[in-house]
Amino acid sequence: MIPVTFDYVRAKNVDQAIQQLKDSKGEGKILAGGHSLLPLMKMRLTEPQMLIDITGIDALKEVKKDGDRLIVGALNTHREVSIHPEIKEHIPLVAETARQIGDIQIRNKGTIGGNIAHADSAADLPAAAFVLNAEVLITNEFGEQSMDIDSFIIGPLITMMPEDSIVTGISFEIPPAHTESTYLKYFHPASGYPVVGVAVVAGTDSNGVIDYVRVGITGAGDVAFRATSVEEALIGKTPSEAVIKAASKSAAEDGEMGSDLFASEEYRENLCKVYTERALTSVLL
Ligand SMILES: Cc1cc2nc3c(=O)[nH]c(=O)nc-3n(C[C@H](O)[C@H](O)[C@H](O)COP(=O)(O)OP(=O)(O)OC[C@H]3O[C@@H](n4cnc5c(N)ncnc54)[C@H](O)[C@@H]3O)c2cc1C
Repeated sequence: MIPVTFDYVRAKNVDQAIQQLKDSKGEGKILAGGHSLLPLMKMRLTEPQMLIDITGIDALKEVKKDGDRLIVGALNTHREVSIHPEIKEHIPLVAETARQIGDIQIRNKGTIGGNIAHADSAADLPAAAFVLNAEVLITNEFGEQSMDIDSFIIGPLITMMPEDSIVTGISFEIPPAHTESTYLKYFHPASGYPVVGVAVVAGTDSNGVIDYVRVGITGAGDVAFRATSVEEALIGKTPSEAVIKAASKSAAEDGEMGSDLFASEEYRENLCKVYTERALTSVLL
């Protein structure tokens, strides 16, 4: 399928990209990896008159530590995120998640900023973003601001991104040193997207009691969510198969389940429980 005709410009820096967005008067779109935007354009579900290519802006590729946070520049591809030494050291959950996105071509082109800005309900990265209290760093003509991930993504393909803004990076909280993490997903057999994906960060104190646990779930419904009921059921307990199984039963309680031809609400609810139990078991036992 062929998209409608559009113009194309390359931005040399962030300020120029913002100006080009403004000049397009609402008809322009930022082009990063193009792996979500171009399929939509080909299906004519979106018809921008101008594509503003930001892939030449090196400043958006930086990865830097800022206190107890790691900031990952928006233009890092999933492949770069999966192998970056600082990401692997400080937020291995994000590297592990990026490694499971799509196939090698998708990982070589798709970007972390594009993945979050696109806000696909089946995207992998939002689970890790929710678990690591991510903030989306946004720049426009009025300056820079950050938005908590749960305020930024509000629906399927819907965000609170202000007009004429670009995402410059994602800031992740670095979890405590004694914790471990994992991301497990039930792959859709055709698309490779998660039918349900579960991210866990957890750890125990010197007495073997769970003192830190975060569970994030993506794919199950319209938006990713923190499974706080599971977290509350685990904190202060000594991990065991029985404790984890009991806590995982509430994995679907804090989000709304979706339903489609492939998986019903009940099936997704069950996947949430099963994958939460597996992820917690691999981290805590
Ligand atoms: C076959 C296939 C399989 C896939 N499988 C998976 C999967 O398993 N898991 C998964 O999570 N994803 C998957 N994806 C999606 C892939 O990860 C995309 O790369 C990603 O979702 C979007 O990133 P992008 O850089 O390609 O963004 P683009 O396609 O370039 O842009 C997407 C949207 O975000 C906007 N945008 C992009 N960057 C910025 C920015 N810096 N600031 C403001 N707006 C911006 C664009 O204007 C556009 O609206 C798959 C895609 C394909 C085609």
